[in-house]
Amino acid sequence: DDRDILTADGEFIGFAEPSLEAFPVVAIVGRPNVGKSALVNRILGRREAVVEDIPGVTRDRVTYPALWNDRRFSLVDTGGWEPDARGIDASVALQAEVAIELCDVVLFVVDSRVGATATDERVVQMLRRSNKPVFLVANKVDDSVLDPEVAALWSLGLGEPRAVSALHGRGVADLLDDVMKTLPEVSAVAQPKLAGPRRVALLGRPNVGKSSLLNKAAGEERVVVNEIAGTTRDPVDEQVEIAGRVWTFVDTAGIRRRVHLQKGADFYATLRTSAALEKAEVAVVLIDVTQEISDQDLRIIDLVLESGRALVLAFNKWDMLDDERRRYLEREIEQDLAHVDWAPRVNISARTGRHLEKLVPALDAALESWDTRVPTAKFNAFLAELVQEHPHPLRGGKQPRVLFGTQVQNRPPTFVLFTSGFLDPGYRRFIQRRLRETYGFEGTPIQINVRVRE
Ligand code: GDP
Ligand code: GDP
Repeated sequence: DDRDILTADGEFIGFAEPSLEAFPVVAIVGRPNVGKSALVNRILGRREAVVEDIPGVTRDRVTYPALWNDRRFSLVDTGGWEPDARGIDASVALQAEVAIELCDVVLFVVDSRVGATATDERVVQMLRRSNKPVFLVANKVDDSVLDPEVAALWSLGLGEPRAVSALHGRGVADLLDDVMKTLPEVSAVAQPKLAGPRRVALLGRPNVGKSSLLNKAAGEERVVVNEIAGTTRDPVDEQVEIAGRVWTFVDTAGIRRRVHLQKGADFYATLRTSAALEKAEVAVVLIDVTQEISDQDLRIIDLVLESGRALVLAFNKWDMLDDERRRYLEREIEQDLAHVDWAPRVNISARTGRHLEKLVPALDAALESWDTRVPTAKFNAFLAELVQEHPHPLRGGKQPRVLFGTQVQNRPPTFVLFTSGFLDPGYRRFIQRRLRETYGFEGTPIQINVRVRE
């Protein structure tokens, strides 16, 4: 297929136009260490590929273009969870919930050597509620010694446990054959490139001014939804006009309802933010200039980065800013927001309406970067020049080399580098910096994956 991107020796690594078509989605869900990454590599790789994420970009959910028996699909890996303050259970549950929501078929992986744990049981409950087709994958069955343990997994009530060994490949082909039979031709969840207004998530901690901004923008000139072509009429979204341009603000129902949950409020706020981000193309994160930039602000920005959406920072309540506070604010921006210094910033007042129109060029710039495609030839010319000027430092007498690279996706721009060894973190950051210097990418996160040829 001429939409495939192949390496020089014919290895399939991606689709040329992944975002124009919505491929059905298979999500791999399970506790840490059950072998999800091993299974992903098994499904993707004709040869063993080591996939390594650049720090600072999304780790929670990674989507890979995949191909099996001539069927294209997106494979979502939910690996890489770290225990957090809420405990591993909550973190697993959150990731799993979002992934399940956004897929057509679930591969639920358990470690047959360990058996079903309490966390597994929780995920099972979620799976039942979702009504999605689920394959129960009993991994690490390297030989038939484990047959009794596999049989015991019938008790989870998810049907036949499928014994596989992700490491050795046993059972994986049969499993995938059956997954392909279940996978719909047309995804129920993946969104093709939509016509109509672009989708914006308005985010920020409580009282930062989200509903004021909505009211200011929507209040005076409420748009009649039916008049706009290509509008998806989701009742929780809202069409908002800013400076003559119409945008779809997603999940505004949550903002307007002002639900203040007490127990686990943070957890649900995170879930809602993640859900809004999934539907959006770009996030506007509001920051209250009268308050110190807080951990909560930074967590919200992190969620945007993890989601891979474009980002605009809007500093709100600018009408309240005095000179002293302004000096502090500038220092805080320098210290706390250095990692998103590529995001366009606008200074606004949702109350007075000051400079709301400046959101429009900021959103345009961020979305354009997010959509960017760098042709493979240009990208390799860029890499060749970079490597020639600054080769990777020698390490133990060896020098990891960047062999070849390509952009496998946009929205956000995602690159794969094929290398002859792991790259030092410093060198990876250097490549990322150079990419931004060369192509700008104002307002979009970029992701660079490294595949090591062994
Ligand atoms: P993840 O955290 O769920 O992504 O798990 P990983 O894929 O990182 O695997 C966790 C550990 O289990 C690694 O040490 C793998 O080598 C090992 N593992 C994964 N699949 C298998 C398998 O089929 N058989 C055996 N014996 N080990 C496996
Ligand atoms: P939300 O919780 O993020 O939706 O925040 P609200 O829109 O409800 O705003 C919280 C408070 O901040 C309200 O009292 C608003 O009037 C006030 N506020 C919002 N934006 C501005 C602004 O630009 N300037 C000033 N001075 N106050 C604002």
